[in-house]
Amino acid sequence: MKKSVKILLVVLACVLVIGGTVGGYIGYTHTYHPSKWLVEGDDAAEDIALADSIDTLDMMANTWQEAVPQTEIYNLIEAHFNAPLPEGKTAKKAIVIGYDGCRVDMFRFIGNAKRTAIGTLLADGGQAVFSYCGGVPYPAENTQATSTAPGWCSMLTGVLADQHGVTNNGQPKPVEPKTLLLSLPESGKIDKSAFYVSWDGHFSKKNATYINEKTYAKENGVNATFCRALSDAGTKKNILSDLRKEDCSDFIFLTLEYTDHTGHRSGFGPQNPKYVSAFRDAEDAGLSFIETIENRATYDSEDWLILITTDHGGIGGSHGGPSFEERMTFIVSNKEVLA
Ligand SMILES: [Zn+2]
Repeated sequence: MKKSVKILLVVLACVLVIGGTVGGYIGYTHTYHPSKWLVEGDDAAEDIALADSIDTLDMMANTWQEAVPQTEIYNLIEAHFNAPLPEGKTAKKAIVIGYDGCRVDMFRFIGNAKRTAIGTLLADGGQAVFSYCGGVPYPAENTQATSTAPGWCSMLTGVLADQHGVTNNGQPKPVEPKTLLLSLPESGKIDKSAFYVSWDGHFSKKNATYINEKTYAKENGVNATFCRALSDAGTKKNILSDLRKEDCSDFIFLTLEYTDHTGHRSGFGPQNPKYVSAFRDAEDAGLSFIETIENRATYDSEDWLILITTDHGGIGGSHGGPSFEERMTFIVSNKEVLA
């Protein structure tokens, strides 16, 4: 082989190797945001049975066998607004950050990362517990669907589908029993509430879950905002805008669809890098809410309860059924109120 040809081949090989490495890195960066997620196990996509996987989550304050019902969200919010103001505080506020369809085994990607919403709450004195949906604890056969509407409705009313009447999506709840969005401002415990979503099934269609509550609020002058954006990015923008106001909403409830939509499209669980990435998008949004709250000019005089939770898990490309993967959920708080 001529010397010039040899040199040409070496140069070509170098270009291929360097190009492949850089290209791969860019692809990796795009999917996993590694600059923000300095945790181990980024490539841990091996398929571990969920029970074995979540047994290793040492940040949890209970075991999955001791999981609390998802209605606990209602009790926590009620208890927060019923308790007297702590010394030095002049206002009570609460936010429930909902990651729709987020499996609890996503917690293995959090580690001790303070640059995540859940990691930040835990590092600042919060707690995390296993929770469950479906009406009764696993392994008993579920008494309500592990679906979006029954799940969030149980958290917002404190009762199960046999009492709130929402057994699946597409069923408008009667005004009674009222959700916290209505009951808190109506009882005078707070001045105003706000419900931020992008999914049209909550209150933007004829058969949406809270369409009757939305109408009731309007007709009866209840200070409750029902605000729908076209995407999670819009939801995030709306919430940040609220939280930056001096007189922001006293109770905010929101759902982000990153994990649910990705799960339906390409599979729920840690084996799907797109699902892991969607979880990270949800956590990035959650962290932006927490940081904005902590940066409020009046933050030191406010008593905030911050909760992060989900309505159900998922298996394959769906949820609604009785499996362990669909039933196990979680609740994270910014203070010691869970266990
Ligand atoms: Zn859902």
